[in-house]
Amino acid sequence: MPSLEEEFHSVIENTKQYLVQQTDLFGNIIYKEEKKEEVTMVSDEQWGKAKSLDELNKQICTCLKCPLGATRTNFVFGVGNPNADVMFIGEAPGADEDAQGEPFVGRAGQLLNKIIEAVQMKREDVYICNILKCRPPGNRDPQPTEMETCTPYLTEQIKLVKPKFIICLGRISAQWLLQTNATLGSLREKVHDYHGTKLIVTYHPAALLRNPNWKYPAWEDMKMFKKLYDELKANN
Ligand code: SF4
Repeated sequence: MPSLEEEFHSVIENTKQYLVQQTDLFGNIIYKEEKKEEVTMVSDEQWGKAKSLDELNKQICTCLKCPLGATRTNFVFGVGNPNADVMFIGEAPGADEDAQGEPFVGRAGQLLNKIIEAVQMKREDVYICNILKCRPPGNRDPQPTEMETCTPYLTEQIKLVKPKFIICLGRISAQWLLQTNATLGSLREKVHDYHGTKLIVTYHPAALLRNPNWKYPAWEDMKMFKKLYDELKANN
């Protein structure tokens, strides 16, 4: 019979092996297997048939298709006017967003609200979301495989909102939607085409908090947007 000490070491060894295996599979996170029970995802036949954002949210809010689903506190779908002319798209929820289940609610969110108000709009007028609906641990950059898995949800959101303008907040969102490695600097001050919708690129509000020198160029981006938006409205 193994001694108590040998049994204790055996338990420790098995636990270590399990954690190494989980880290290999899911990165530096602990996989919460119990969340699997929450999955009630929409069937393949129903997919793409949601008639409203609320319906889409219900279809996907239990998603565990990538490892971020296991570490999130809240699924962060999106917020705002379901018929907005303007859609702001960031990269992923941060700590505040993960805690509250709403995109852009922390300090960066407050700055985004001011940016929106600077072009005579309100947060409730526009639609705000991210490419990823779950927070990457430690606010690391989203991985391409995570964005690839999550993008169909954003595509459906865009199809339902039908915005006239998309404003990408930051390099990651811009590079991903435009499928380019070009720098943020070279993507700004241009009007891009995203499947027939005008797309403008500006700084992420969190970057503006870190580097206030970028606030002026960000204001230039928003002035360019406002001019185009006013022209569009005048012609309709
Ligand atoms: S990030 Fe997107 S794909 Fe990954 S679990 Fe969350 S909703 Fe699903």
